Amino acid sequence: MHLPRKFAAVVSTDSASGPPANQRLRALPSVDAVLAWPEVASALAAHPRPRVVEAVRTALAAARARVQETVGRPFEAADVLRALARLALPKLRPVFNATGVVLHTNLGRAPLAAAARAQLARVAEGYCNLEFDLEAGERGSRFAPVVESLCRLTGAEDALVVNNCAAATLLVLTALAEGREVVVSRGELVEIGGGFRIPDVMRQSHATLVEVGTTNRTRRADYEKALADTTALVAKVHRSNFALVGFTEEASVAELVPLCAPRGIPLFVDAGSGHLLPLDVAGLGVEPTMRDHVEAGADLVAFSGDKLLGGPQAGIVVGRSALVARLRSHPLHRALRVDKLTVAALEATLGMYRDGQGDAVPTRALLSQSPATLRLRAERLQGALAGHAVPCDVVAVEGQAGGGTLPLARLASFACAVAGDAEALLASLRRGEPAVVGRIADGKLLLDVRCLQDSELEPLARAVAAAAAGPA
Ligand SMILES: *Cc1c(COP(=O)(O)O)cnc(C)c1O
Repeated sequence: MHLPRKFAAVVSTDSASGPPANQRLRALPSVDAVLAWPEVASALAAHPRPRVVEAVRTALAAARARVQETVGRPFEAADVLRALARLALPKLRPVFNATGVVLHTNLGRAPLAAAARAQLARVAEGYCNLEFDLEAGERGSRFAPVVESLCRLTGAEDALVVNNCAAATLLVLTALAEGREVVVSRGELVEIGGGFRIPDVMRQSHATLVEVGTTNRTRRADYEKALADTTALVAKVHRSNFALVGFTEEASVAELVPLCAPRGIPLFVDAGSGHLLPLDVAGLGVEPTMRDHVEAGADLVAFSGDKLLGGPQAGIVVGRSALVARLRSHPLHRALRVDKLTVAALEATLGMYRDGQGDAVPTRALLSQSPATLRLRAERLQGALAGHAVPCDVVAVEGQAGGGTLPLARLASFACAVAGDAEALLASLRRGEPAVVGRIADGKLLLDVRCLQDSELEPLARAVAAAAAGPA
């Protein structure tokens, strides 16, 4: 912005010329004086006073630091207005996902369906019957809205919901195996991400880990040898973000059932992705559904609400009534419980599956877009970029599902490859508003269109043009 001269170079913070540092520090205006500057005073019309005061303090602190660091630049009203613009933006805010990764944990994983967003907003607005049975007029269960759907969709007897799948696994191990043994294949002792390691969760739940098999091969007989009176649980863990290929062998849930059931040892599957319906997409491979695990005979199955299921962050456990009842009555369950917003969004998302609209859940829709659709969108983005004098090439790329799901899946997609200093463009796009997250391949900035809305293409093109024009 253009500033009248008398409000601009109020005080030089440049040490190379001019008075010494302490004198220049003293010459910086007071907060009250800056609040009286016309540009700053007029900002009070659009911003609450405490925010403007904080912006002035922030800008003055930066000016003081500049005096100390002797990098030199005058303190001016524009500093305050920039600090104000930053303060006015929420710290958690929408970003454009141009990475092509559908379930990006750093970008909030699954985007919610319109029905889930609407239900969430309705419930958030006022009071709701979270734990009140409107039929009976007495206290009810907060899981009632989702248990029936979960049972119907997975074929399980009962279900409960906690904060996330990590919490679900912790609850299962603590409630069912504390102080006893849990048998797990060496090939499944994975770290899922965010430091969530299966052996650490075992320790946390005071269960003793009994490793069976080898890294690449574990047979039914390996499990059989390990089973003892002290065995509380046999656990099968989805490898999530990595895959075993080559000379490998693993015992399936169906193979383990005849070992566990006669001994009364529960078989627990930590399934991760929460895949509820088969998804017929080239390159995705075959992922078992939660119903597959239940029908194969797993006693408890845990999965995430915000991976392939496409709902809010949640950890869902389905399985046999008696075991779910034990989880429900454990004190940890109370500490890990979900809030009304999660229940609202989950109920609406599960409702889409029940109503035969599972393929419209955004995660699944994003994964199943055809290459032709994606190419068309990339060409539209290219057109929008050209409108802002930013040249780019439309290129075929391979994307990932993300979120620790389908590690080998390679999804054919299209991207706009933008010429220029890729690192600088990437950083500038990240810091802009709207914030854009892309990626770099072969030294070029790639904007993958898989996770972009059509309505985002024009604002994205503007953001790229601004980034290409230089740092903000
Ligand atoms: C992702 C994953 C988890 C953790 O799920 P969150 O919902 O992120 O806590 C646990 N187990 C497996 C196998 C996973 O893939």
